[in-house]
Amino acid sequence: MNASNRIPQISELKGVGPSAVDVLKQLGVESIEDLFSYFPYRYDNYEIQDLENAGDSDHLTVRGKIQSEPVLSFYAKRRSRLSVRVLSGRNLVTVIAFNRPYLKKKLNLGDEVTVTGKWERARAEITATEFHIGAPDFSEQIAPVYPVKDGMTVRRMRSIVRQVFNQFQDSIVETLPPTLIEEYRLMGRKEAIREIHFPTGRDALKQARRRLVYEEFLIYELKMQCYKQVKRKSGGGTRINIQTDSIRSFIRTLPFPLTRAQERVVKEILADLGSPFAMNRLLQGDVGSGKTIVAAIALYAAVTAGFQGALMAPTEILAEQHADSLQKLFEPFSVSVALLTGNVRGKERRPLLEELKKGHIDILVGTHALIQDDVLFKQLGLVVTDEQHRFGVGQRRLLRVKGKDPDVLYMTATPIPRTLAITVFGDMDVSTIDELPGGRKTIRTYWVRHEMMGRVIRFMEKELRQGRQAYVVCPLIEESEQLDVQNALDMHAELTRSLPDYRIGLMHGKLTNDEKSEVMNGFKEQKIHVLVSTTVVEVGVNVPNATLMIINDADRFGLSQLHQLRGRVGRGNDQSYCILVADARSETSRERMKLMTETTDGFRLSSFDLQLRGPGDFFGKKQSGVPAFKLADMIHDYRTLAAARDDASRLVLNPHFWKDESFAQLRRPLIDSGILEHTFLD
Ligand code: ADP
Ligand code: MG
Repeated sequence: MNASNRIPQISELKGVGPSAVDVLKQLGVESIEDLFSYFPYRYDNYEIQDLENAGDSDHLTVRGKIQSEPVLSFYAKRRSRLSVRVLSGRNLVTVIAFNRPYLKKKLNLGDEVTVTGKWERARAEITATEFHIGAPDFSEQIAPVYPVKDGMTVRRMRSIVRQVFNQFQDSIVETLPPTLIEEYRLMGRKEAIREIHFPTGRDALKQARRRLVYEEFLIYELKMQCYKQVKRKSGGGTRINIQTDSIRSFIRTLPFPLTRAQERVVKEILADLGSPFAMNRLLQGDVGSGKTIVAAIALYAAVTAGFQGALMAPTEILAEQHADSLQKLFEPFSVSVALLTGNVRGKERRPLLEELKKGHIDILVGTHALIQDDVLFKQLGLVVTDEQHRFGVGQRRLLRVKGKDPDVLYMTATPIPRTLAITVFGDMDVSTIDELPGGRKTIRTYWVRHEMMGRVIRFMEKELRQGRQAYVVCPLIEESEQLDVQNALDMHAELTRSLPDYRIGLMHGKLTNDEKSEVMNGFKEQKIHVLVSTTVVEVGVNVPNATLMIINDADRFGLSQLHQLRGRVGRGNDQSYCILVADARSETSRERMKLMTETTDGFRLSSFDLQLRGPGDFFGKKQSGVPAFKLADMIHDYRTLAAARDDASRLVLNPHFWKDESFAQLRRPLIDSGILEHTFLD
């Protein structure tokens, strides 16, 4: 279709001046189609109400007839008050309008008027904010409110959208095939666009939204499904020859039996490894659910089949810890594990890379140092990334291209509600460990205010006296890394003073890597009894002797993050405690703190967080990867999302989808996005 030749750009429209064009551009609106899909984020309600049953309200619209001559009075300097009686239904009310003296001449006995304003039932009085003579048409009763910025008003935006719609509505093409429209009884696209901007009623608006949300999800999911298919077809992924017997005997050497959930996800992963497609799987499981061992089994499977494996962790501490535990696990099996972090340089680094290239290193563990250009594998078969949400999409891709389409396993301890997981990671399969190893004592969680800090410290002393250790976490202050460190420094000083018999360690982002390892090792070896830290301990650290987690200003953290921090304790046999120190001034803060004390179910906490704070916050602002939908809301529209996902996965496998004219508009975004480049259509 050559539509772009015929439909002008916004800048070419009459009646939209250069300054408006400029603001629109800043708002991301350049084409007429952009404008049509520049959706209102809410609506002002001017629907006519019946006063008969209406209680007091700040914003209410009524219709009626003028029953008295308006009375105009002036006060102060040039201020006026107009009062007139209006009969609305059976209710005679007084309407007051301030500073609109000109109305006096316009209003005549018996005139029909529409008034919006504040309604006080006891006085039968409306203080008008809007005063119309006559009846507005319905589309003005639910008025769109657009996100605007300086130089553009909502009113102006409304009139631009209306003007452009009236003139170019015929350029709106249907994107969905009749089959889907019929199946879901969806509104046509043109009608939906009109209704979303100029609703003719509540129900019509709802239907319009439903249709547009479905379309938005469907196109997104089509891309995801396509991407997945393309990868399957083009990606001559590696088939890893699973050595079932040796894997079994490896599992038998573990000091504990696998949980049922671990067994299930191991099966899922091994099946993927053994298939000719490149695995692309997300492994999610609560803190302490035992993901590391699952990764170890997968890596072992790759190594016994003659491949190399890589394990990437977001911090040095975690990478070291992983390297450590893998070395121990694999010791009896002559699997060689090496560690590569930013700390490994020059003399050490070169021979290591050499060995790696020759294939003498079976498993390379490390930080993002793994994705540097000169890190080359002989035959990389499996890549595992731990705490995957901490890596950007780009970083993950870089590791993956180090092999010939290696299998990839992403691990995360942030429990993601399933609907969200399949959306955000739409091209992935998801495995979930939904069970903790048995015999764990529930961590007791308490919430106290700052004034109780003295008692908290005494409690800490009691634990320390029994030979246990404690974490004290200070929050990340986003605006200022400096302040952040200062917080930890202050806390460190205070504890050093109050607990002179114990060694208090300090950990924060400004330390060098060597300093960090030294502190962490000191804590592990129980030379340091209390570890004061910013959030660097958040991920994966394992010190079973630590039984107390104190989180200062806990209300500054997300629930998922608090939950992760709490997961640092409760790893040994002793009863563990988590103390949230927070004044929690708002209602929601208090609710969140209370929920933390009531549940240790990570999924419940994360769903709550998700609803409260939205997905962006959930995944961390930087990483995101969370798709931004214009109209759709992943949480509230999750049923539509699930339907769209099913439809999309069905459609991409249907030959008609790739040929028939009725799907042409759905194919377009796929073609435009370049997903199909890899010969998928051949
Ligand atoms: P996470 O999922 O948070 O990464 P880890 O893999 O660090 O959890 O495991 C937490 C602890 O639980 C480790 O000390 C590990 O050895 C232990 N563990 C893992 N699986 C089991 C199991 N099936 N039974 C008992 N302990 C287990
Ligand atoms: Mg872990």
